[in-house]
Amino acid sequence: MAVDSILSSPLGPPACEKDAKALQFIEEMTRNADSVQENVLAHILRRNADTEYLKSFNLDGATDRETFKSKIPMVTYEDLQPFIQRIADGDRSPILSSHPVSEFLTSSGTSAGERKLMPTIKEELDRRQLLYSLLMPVMNLYVNGLDKGKGLYFLFIKSETKTPGGLLARPVLTSYYKSDHFKTRPHDPYNVYTSPNEAILCPDSFQSMYTQMLCGLYDRHQVLRVGAVFASGLLRAIRFLQLNWRQLADDIRAGSLNHKVTDPDILSCMTRILRPDPELADFIVSECSKEKWERIITRIWPNTKYLDVIVTGAMAQYIPTLDYYSGGLPKACTMYASSECYFGLNLNPMSKPSDVSYTIMPNMAYFEFLPHEAAPAAGVAQPPPLVDLADVEVGKEYELVITTYAGLYRYHVGDILRVTGFHNAAPQFQFVRRKNVLLSIDSDKTDEAELQAAVESASRLLKGYDTSVVEYTSYADTATIPGHYVVYWELLAREPTAGPTGEVMERCCLEMEECLNSVYRQCRVADGSIGALEIRVVRNGTFEELMDYAISRGASINQYKVPRCVSFTPITELLDSRVVSTHFSPSLPHWAPDRRRC
Ligand code: AMP
Repeated sequence: MAVDSILSSPLGPPACEKDAKALQFIEEMTRNADSVQENVLAHILRRNADTEYLKSFNLDGATDRETFKSKIPMVTYEDLQPFIQRIADGDRSPILSSHPVSEFLTSSGTSAGERKLMPTIKEELDRRQLLYSLLMPVMNLYVNGLDKGKGLYFLFIKSETKTPGGLLARPVLTSYYKSDHFKTRPHDPYNVYTSPNEAILCPDSFQSMYTQMLCGLYDRHQVLRVGAVFASGLLRAIRFLQLNWRQLADDIRAGSLNHKVTDPDILSCMTRILRPDPELADFIVSECSKEKWERIITRIWPNTKYLDVIVTGAMAQYIPTLDYYSGGLPKACTMYASSECYFGLNLNPMSKPSDVSYTIMPNMAYFEFLPHEAAPAAGVAQPPPLVDLADVEVGKEYELVITTYAGLYRYHVGDILRVTGFHNAAPQFQFVRRKNVLLSIDSDKTDEAELQAAVESASRLLKGYDTSVVEYTSYADTATIPGHYVVYWELLAREPTAGPTGEVMERCCLEMEECLNSVYRQCRVADGSIGALEIRVVRNGTFEELMDYAISRGASINQYKVPRCVSFTPITELLDSRVVSTHFSPSLPHWAPDRRRC
């Protein structure tokens, strides 16, 4: 039922009364972006006026933007680390927020190799929930009939730890899926999932994925959208199907459940779902045993209207593979969020990935923007002029700086955004990139310093062979699932006949992995979402050829620096054509959920 008559929206005719209210809310927030922002800041400052952090800057009760901007410095995680450490250790005094910190959200961004701990407060869940509640009303403007079927979403929780002071530390989505907001959400015909909560909430990733896939196969005709949070997650599900379709088909044929699934909650909920369906089992066998898996998503789930996955930012590298498996289905990037704060949503979710812009919702936090070209050098005392949400300019790039209800004040998120336009008075942003990220396959983010440290540490293993690494560069290889890091090494051996053996080179691969941050190692070990690191040794002189190539394309000889990551095809082709040997990490690096400092 279109409800123009009930409440119309400039965004389009809402699908139902609930949607009309959500769209109305978006209109109100975006029309009044600047005044909403002013109120949000005043609210945050008023309620947190007595926190140790704000008192130290002598705001003296001021809640206006001018005083705030003149007295409160911009900070990074490292600046806040001592405060966060005290909270983690059990100090319950109002340090950053007057509301008690309810838990820590563990970001995929790292500090000193470990996930950053973002303090959060209970009511932030409501704010996140509010943003989620806006997504389907917007989607319903573009896709009809989503209430006539289900969404096949591969959603997972990850391991959680406790800080010495007893607070939980876990990823934001784990926190959300385990909350009553998610677990006891009211039935919404537009938002029915094939995956039972019990499967999503199972901590064992195999059992969780197996059950979610099985349920998705049973419901194959009802599935209208297929998704995961990030593109890499959906591809991991396809890979899982490739590896497990025989067992899945056997279970469907017999109405049984793989003996590897032992989680009692899953077992009890699956008794309601399992049933023998030999016809479906035959169909799965016939489709999955075909050599080509092109369009497998639409072959198995023929009514899929779109994929719901983030393919912006680092995830853009997966677009061709997703297109291959889905026959080019639209890819909806619905929201932009982080552990620190949920930022906003895409008001045109069926747009091409290259055209995706996110509208930051002014009620979520107080947002400021550091003009990208004016990024300050470390240690510069004078705060650079930050621009308010409503004042950013179309075409310009900015770094996102946030002030949250949970007690982050003028905090650098590390994302670079470009303004593409406005919806009412609220700007819309293209996600350009994350600052300082060289390599990323899944939620891992490896920067240049981390890669350098890993190469240095691994190259020490070559000392006994009078060999050194003279140059290196890297590449995120996503041609296989899961993707993996490739590091090209040019070696200099004093005595080429006594150079390192293949076994030594494999140890170098593993040593590099041991040195990479804990998110990388968790993806490798617990999630299996990154494959073994590969070193490709290239013949001597290759990096000089690389330089010649860059100079032939206009680089300056004086300023030329070896790129520490390459993705331009002619360059990877050049490197690959000079490879003399390849080596893979022979085993998994160490990772344990409790290896955190706090
Ligand atoms: P985390 O704190 O681990 O949740 O990671 C949050 C970061 O993921 C953000 O700061 C962005 O860098 C990235 N991210 C989140 N949503 C998107 C999106 N829609 N497109 C591109 N990158 C995103």
